[in-house]
Amino acid sequence: MNRKIIISAGHGGNDPGAVANGYTERDLAIEFRELLVKELLLLGVKPLIDDNKNALKQTLAWLTGKYSFKDILLDIHWNAASSKARGTEVIVPDNASIFENNFAKNILNVFVSNGFVNRGVKPESQTARKRLGWMRPPAENILIEMGFITNLLDINLYQNLKYKLAKELAFDIYKSLI
Ligand SMILES: [Zn+2]
Repeated sequence: MNRKIIISAGHGGNDPGAVANGYTERDLAIEFRELLVKELLLLGVKPLIDDNKNALKQTLAWLTGKYSFKDILLDIHWNAASSKARGTEVIVPDNASIFENNFAKNILNVFVSNGFVNRGVKPESQTARKRLGWMRPPAENILIEMGFITNLLDINLYQNLKYKLAKELAFDIYKSLI
């Protein structure tokens, strides 16, 4: 393997992230990360994962010294807005590398081909917060907003397809590492 991958479930510990429709972003992100890790292990990829109790600040501290510039740092989140907004978006740093852009497009395509609305690959400056801590470590940085926790169609799509999504995403990651 030419690169390694570190996967973080967004939020964690006392930071639940968004809460809607009886779901908590932190718990959805942890669940999907675990499904993804399981699929990656089946492909012979051993991702590095942090403690589920870590919020972003602790995760960033934990990351120190664990990656090189070509490793993939993937953070999993759910979006929140009005109940009508839906779809997947994948965030990259401003001035993203070719690798980051291609990897983000592949990830997005897994969700879009499974019925999620395409909200595109976006540089961090086009997000609500403009600057994201996850984009600061010098590596290949990617953040997925899988869908909207506030939208029942997205939630239902995820519940119906989460095993398939994890399998397909794991295969894309596997191909990106070799
Ligand atoms: Zn989040």
